[in-house]
Amino acid sequence: MDKINVTRSSMPEFEEYVNEIKDLWDSRWITNMGAKHNKLQEKLREYLAVENVSLFANGHLALEAAISSMKLTGEVITTPFTFASTTQAIVRCGLTPVFCDVNEDDYTIDVKKAKLLITDKTSAIIPVHVYGNVCNVYEIEKIAKKHNLKVIYDAAHTFGVRVDGRGIGSFGDASMFSFHATKVFNTIEGGCVAYKDSRLTERLNVQRNFGMSDNENYKEVAGNAKMNEFQAAMGLCNLKIIEREISERKIAAKRYIDNLSGRRGIRPWKEQDGVIHNYSYFPVVFDGDIFGKSRDQISDELAKENIYARKYFYPPTNEFECYKGKFDPGNTPKAKYISENVLTLPMYAGLSVEDVDRICEIILRQE
Ligand SMILES: *Cc1c(COP(=O)(O)O)cnc(C)c1O
Repeated sequence: MDKINVTRSSMPEFEEYVNEIKDLWDSRWITNMGAKHNKLQEKLREYLAVENVSLFANGHLALEAAISSMKLTGEVITTPFTFASTTQAIVRCGLTPVFCDVNEDDYTIDVKKAKLLITDKTSAIIPVHVYGNVCNVYEIEKIAKKHNLKVIYDAAHTFGVRVDGRGIGSFGDASMFSFHATKVFNTIEGGCVAYKDSRLTERLNVQRNFGMSDNENYKEVAGNAKMNEFQAAMGLCNLKIIEREISERKIAAKRYIDNLSGRRGIRPWKEQDGVIHNYSYFPVVFDGDIFGKSRDQISDELAKENIYARKYFYPPTNEFECYKGKFDPGNTPKAKYISENVLTLPMYAGLSVEDVDRICEIILRQE
C-alpha cells in the first residue's frame, strides 16, 4: 500500500508555476517587495476579506512582527495547546505568556478562565484558532475592550475561514496566517499579518526589513522577514486552486465524520455553527479508558499499515523542556488531556474517500 502522510502540499500544475516565474528573468527583481509580492498582497486582502495585509517570509516571523509592532509589555494571555510557534514568539518578544486552559469541545481559549487571568500587567491576548476552529471572537472582543487589551490571533490554521459572513482575519487588532507548505494555502514558506489599523502598516513593514523606514533611516531594531518573488509566484498559482483544494478536503472531512461519529470513546472533529471552515486538520480525541486503546497505540497501528497520523499538538507548550520549571501544566488540565489523547488523521486535497474508509476501518478494528 502507498504511504499516506498526515498532509501533502498543494501545488499548481508545473507549467502554471513556470509560466508565473518566467518574467522574473526579464525584471531581475526577485525579492524586496517585487511585483508578484505586491500583487499577492492585494489579492489576499480581497480573498481574506480584511482591511490590510502585510506579507512575510513565514508565519512565525509575521507573528513576531505583529507582536513587536504593538509594543506590548508584561504579560500575554494565550493557550498551551498549539504549535510551538505561538509561545516561542511571545517569549522571543520579551513577554511573559500566561497560559489559559482550552474548551473541551473546540480546544480554543476558554474565555471565562481567560478573564480570571487578567492582571495590571496584562497587555494582550494571543488566542489560537487551533485546527481551524474559531475562538469565541465576540466574547474576546468584549473582554479586550473592557480591559484595554490588544488581541492578536494566531490564525495559522484558518486561511479563508468565514464567521457570520466575515473574514476571520477581520477580528481582533491583527491575525497571523501561515502559508507554510503544510497549510491549506502555501507559498512554500510564508505568512502574513492581517490588521485593522492602517497606522500599523509602516511599523509592520519596517519589522520585515531590518527596521528600515527609508534608505537612511532605521526606526526599529528588527531582522529580515521578506517574502521573495518565487514564494509570491507560488502563492498566486495556489490561490487560483484554493476553492477546489478546500472542497476536496471537505469531502474527506465529511467521510471521516460519517465513519467515526457515534462511537464510544471517539471524538472526531466537528463543524462549528455559523462558520465556513477550511478543513485544515482532522483531529480525533480518543478517550483511551472508554475506547480501550490509547492514542499512541492507534498511531502505532496506523503506522504498521503505512499511514502516518501525527500527535499534533503534543506536548503542550507549557511542558516544553526549554520552559522547565517556569509553568505548571497542571493549571491547564484540559489542554494537557487533549494533547495526550488527540491524533491528527491524514487530511489533504486529493485524499480519496477509499483511503479515508481504510484509515477508519483500521481505527474501528481497535475497538
Ligand atoms: C504553522 C504554524 C505557525 C507558524 O507558521 P510558519 O509559517 O511555519 O512559520 C504558527 N502557529 C501555528 C498554530 C501553526 O500551526
